[in-house]
Amino acid sequence: MASASSTSNSRPSKNPQPAQTSGQQMKPPLSNNAVYTRVARQVTCKYCGNEVQTLIDYSPGVGAFLLCGSLFVLGFVFGCCLIPLLLDSCRDVKHYCPNCGKLLGRRDLL
Ligand SMILES: [Zn+2]
Repeated sequence: MASASSTSNSRPSKNPQPAQTSGQQMKPPLSNNAVYTRVARQVTCKYCGNEVQTLIDYSPGVGAFLLCGSLFVLGFVFGCCLIPLLLDSCRDVKHYCPNCGKLLGRRDLL
């Protein structure tokens, strides 16, 4: 009855045009540090396009480890020099979109 006509779409896929880079260079967006602070903020998610309040997540970053190192050098005992790893104010702050969960920006300690 219904004969499945096998239309072979074996055409070579369209070559995606390379991004036009002639003229102006693609500039990376300004450092997120200028936009994202250490508190959640209202932004338009660049991934899902929704206006969201960012979810923030603290994680010890390079800055905290450097602080640890300098405290250690300054003579703090091992326990004390770990303090920067435990303090939110010494950690890097990452802003996530609550909708799609993508990382929107971050605020590094340094
Ligand atoms: Zn999103």
